Amino acid sequence: MKFELIQLPYAADALEPVISKQTIEFHHGKHLQAYVNNLNNLIQGTKFEKADLETIVKESEGAIFNNAGQVLNHNLYFTQFSPKGSRKPSGKLAEAMDAIWGSFENFQKEFEAAGVSLFGSGWVWLSVDDKENLSITKESNAGNPITKGLKPLLTFDVWEHAYYLDYQNRRADQLKNLWTIVDWQVAASRY
Ligand code: MN
Repeated sequence: MKFELIQLPYAADALEPVISKQTIEFHHGKHLQAYVNNLNNLIQGTKFEKADLETIVKESEGAIFNNAGQVLNHNLYFTQFSPKGSRKPSGKLAEAMDAIWGSFENFQKEFEAAGVSLFGSGWVWLSVDDKENLSITKESNAGNPITKGLKPLLTFDVWEHAYYLDYQNRRADQLKNLWTIVDWQVAASRY
């Protein structure tokens, strides 16, 4: 198989109580694994057979795009969390964020609001463009900001499968709690 399920850089129960072990086991072990399997099957015999993941996301459409997008999105999502890490941005990234949103707290408020107001399934993103401008954007379904020339730094998954076992319909509560497990050093390393 060309693409493989990423290994989590923490134990399945390491993010509790924000994300339960059960949610990690379903979200990473079942949902993401299914996207990986689907993608591997779909690209066989196509021009994407030997392409890397980002190229497939940028250039494909339909079922290949949906599964490739979900693999890339989840890879970014799962690797940005840590049971111990920097809970606030620092350095150049923090300065750039403050210049736009005024404060980290205000950024968090706007990011959560974007996630809450996204209708249906999708993702909210913090990204940077090639002129170093930061932005918060929303993408439906499998969308990823790289298709718009942006580089993603941080993302929250607002598909129900990301939070329903732990939070049921309370999407806003999960978004608020995710800040306590984000490792901003990971976001800064993508900057
Ligand atoms: Mn998901």
